[in-house]
Amino acid sequence: MDYGLLWFLLPLAAWSGWWVARRTSQPEPPARRLSPDYLRGLDYLLNEQPDKAIDVFIRLIDVDNDTVETHLALGALYRRRGEVNRAIRIHQNLIKISKLNPQQKALATLELGLDYQRAGLLDRAENLFQELVEVSSYRGLAYRQLLGIYQQEQDWEKAIGIAWDLSKHSGENLNPIIAHYHCEQAEAFQRKGNLEQTHQALKTALAIDPNCVRVSLTEGYLMLSQNTNFLEIIEIFQRVEQQNAHFIPEIIQPLELCYRRLEQLDKFTEYLQHILKTYGGIAPLLALTQRVREQSDEQQAATFIIQQLKETPSLKGLVHFIDLILPYNEENSQHNLFLVKEVMIKLLKNYPLYRCKECGFSGKTLHWQCPSCKQWNTIAPLQN
Ligand SMILES: [Zn+2]
Repeated sequence: MDYGLLWFLLPLAAWSGWWVARRTSQPEPPARRLSPDYLRGLDYLLNEQPDKAIDVFIRLIDVDNDTVETHLALGALYRRRGEVNRAIRIHQNLIKISKLNPQQKALATLELGLDYQRAGLLDRAENLFQELVEVSSYRGLAYRQLLGIYQQEQDWEKAIGIAWDLSKHSGENLNPIIAHYHCEQAEAFQRKGNLEQTHQALKTALAIDPNCVRVSLTEGYLMLSQNTNFLEIIEIFQRVEQQNAHFIPEIIQPLELCYRRLEQLDKFTEYLQHILKTYGGIAPLLALTQRVREQSDEQQAATFIIQQLKETPSLKGLVHFIDLILPYNEENSQHNLFLVKEVMIKLLKNYPLYRCKECGFSGKTLHWQCPSCKQWNTIAPLQN
């Protein structure tokens, strides 16, 4: 027997208790009588004939308003088990009943909306959740479901509208998420080659959330691709330091490019020194080691990096150290060092570059919305 259905039989158990009590004591309680059809439905259910059971229950509900809650629960159970079509049949029939009170009607509408959403019938789900927005006790829930649908459909315009409504309704600060929706719009404009609208959408996103790192990275790379004012691009990338220092590894490479084009690598070195001193991290250390190498030689760079690595060990840093000392070793040592380096590189291949602080999802690509827990702004670069 399916244990998930056990609780469904609870009304029956209650009824049996009453029945026994009725036979053994007086006076009779004002209890209700379960129709023989209800028992027949349960019988079908126990004999794993759910469709026949549902037929019986659906006929019953027209005559027995008391079993509405049980039907709601049965429908939700079917949905959780992945039997969405059965859940939809139950909830569709519930909604048709004129005897439902407003709360029951709202709950049945919510359940049917969830069924449709689960079945991928997003348009139908959207219509039902929009109806629910009118019911004050379900408004917040309806907004959240709608938001989920618009995100799934990547309809950012509608997502922005609903997110503001939800924010007003619940008092939550959804600005960081709304800024991402504008960034999504910006990226869509960019794919279509509509650069003016791209910049406008990014500007709006930054106004909504001044700490949005994504705006700085997207805008910076966009301007780099257009080869425009490098000083301005440097300022844009350097905003990230104040916005969220965890993302500093993302700006080292583009900043180096800009400073190189401006022939101001000394300023880049100064900036790296400041970053390393303030925040630490392997990305600025590697870039600074490269600067030492360019300005003097491999040996100086090796001395510099190994001193730092003693403080903050890093596999990636060690690979760079080996690279620097390789030419200064005898042939036999070179061969061994090369083997060690190969092993380290293999180890590094298994290391993720980004991790979600909410669910632990990790990978090699930066996602602004976690692919696993669907939260925004929860994934950040890792220091390896
Ligand atoms: Zn996550």
